[in-house]
Amino acid sequence: MRGAGDGRYTSGWYRPAMSTETIHGACLCGAVEYEADGPFAGFQYCHCSRCRRFTGSAHAANLFCPPAQFRFTKGEANVGRYALPDARFFATSFCRTCGSSLPWLNQAGTTVIIPAGTLDDAPSVRPARNIMWGSRAPWYVEASELEKHDELPPRKGK
Ligand SMILES: [Zn+2]
Ligand SMILES: [Zn+2]
Repeated sequence: MRGAGDGRYTSGWYRPAMSTETIHGACLCGAVEYEADGPFAGFQYCHCSRCRRFTGSAHAANLFCPPAQFRFTKGEANVGRYALPDARFFATSFCRTCGSSLPWLNQAGTTVIIPAGTLDDAPSVRPARNIMWGSRAPWYVEASELEKHDELPPRKGK
């Protein structure tokens, strides 16, 4: 997580023994790119008020991996971080140019939380649960209940 300077990945020969896949992600403007190796420790939607506020969306879609399986491959200096003062674990990371969410190290330093919307690749795992469901937005309607359009909906009237 601290980048190429800490020596863990610079030697080139070491790979995690159980690495099953490597997935890539980037921010909206492309200034920041990252990679993460499986296996992943979990994948879930979080409806807590912190995640809703930070993402600006109904819930976060978070994939988890140990810090040793994660690295920024481009633009790490452009990654901002905000550690919520009264939170034990919660923090956020974001691109300083475009504001996109980016993977963040929890405040305990034990887990990298990858906002799955920033992924270019599909991990082999799928979301397994909704957490903080009791904190879901009062206006929330499950996506499966809504009509679906492959692209923009047809224009009405006129
Ligand atoms: Zn960006
Ligand atoms: Zn949350």
